Amino acid sequence: MRVLDLSAIAIVDHHCHPIRRPDQPVTLREAFSEAVDPQAIADGAETLLFRRTLREVAELYQCEPTEAAIEEARRSLGGDESLRRCFSEARLAALFVDEGIGDGQLLPAEAFLSVAPIRRVLRVESVATALISEESTWSAFVERLRTAIATPGPQVVALKTIVAYRTGLDVGPADDAAAAEVFFHLRQQLLRGRAIRLAHRPLNDWLVHEAARAARQTGLPLQVHTGFGDPDLDLRRANPLLLRPLLDHPAYRETRFVLLHAGYPFVREAGWLAWVLPNVLLDLGLAIPLLSVGGMRRTIDAALELTPLSKLLLSTDGALAPERFFCAARWGRRALGESLAAAVGDGDLTAGEAEAAAEAILAENARRWYGWPPAA
Ligand SMILES: [Zn+2]
Repeated sequence: MRVLDLSAIAIVDHHCHPIRRPDQPVTLREAFSEAVDPQAIADGAETLLFRRTLREVAELYQCEPTEAAIEEARRSLGGDESLRRCFSEARLAALFVDEGIGDGQLLPAEAFLSVAPIRRVLRVESVATALISEESTWSAFVERLRTAIATPGPQVVALKTIVAYRTGLDVGPADDAAAAEVFFHLRQQLLRGRAIRLAHRPLNDWLVHEAARAARQTGLPLQVHTGFGDPDLDLRRANPLLLRPLLDHPAYRETRFVLLHAGYPFVREAGWLAWVLPNVLLDLGLAIPLLSVGGMRRTIDAALELTPLSKLLLSTDGALAPERFFCAARWGRRALGESLAAAVGDGDLTAGEAEAAAEAILAENARRWYGWPPAA
């Protein structure tokens, strides 16, 4: 198959996370798994993804393609040098960083400044969790939350919700009284010295409505995790089709929703939403690079079945280790190049249209929808 060479395009990575501090490194196995269970992480070494990744990272670090040799190479190169190598291969024009992944051992987002300019993604559940511990009344909490997400400052280019991971995408109407009840319940837990987790439907659903409204007011896109991701999510409730009432709600027709993770495995469903609703965009992150090569290609092919080229974006969803960014950028370009070349072969696109589509998906759509970074 003829392949489009996309190596010249610098990717605008519209969704990623920080990496670990050098004194708290993750193994390559851990970095390329979404599991928490140690046995599941070990089993992850037997995926096509991991077999491929071992060879590619070994090539980058010029060592044997074994886990032991790679971990030794990572140690001897050190954090700064492996970051530099991974990012000079990845060639990312900008990074939009979500620091809310709740891992207390991460470097701040500024650690990326040596390799790319950064902006921030504000995770509304993190904002809410922090404010519950600071405010004792519901009205004070609501006021501070609204201010925080409606005036997040110039560094923030998107809002984000992880409701899919907590209570599911079948978001109901906002019920203030029921949400307030959850707020007081969580306050009680805090007063008893317990840690709190925002996983009670009335408050989580209420928060999504607040985020959708703030996104409309500010013009910032609202990123929504859909499909696979954290291991504890209920995948049945992460189907982006469940979002339809929210996406279509008259109050949010001006809110731009970005469906993250390609909605995998509900890629066609997500692509259909992006096709029929003017305010829905689709991201290919996490599916790239965590699937087999065939899986990545089929995911992009499925997205391209209906998604307008102007509404498809690539993120790395890189996290924890710089190798995630390296592999996501490599396979973002390669798999997209293969899918677009196939579209040319099929007669769906001309060669010129395929090249323009690649620019759009890897960089220009993010510039346009988020308004940053300025044109290169
Ligand atoms: Zn993410």
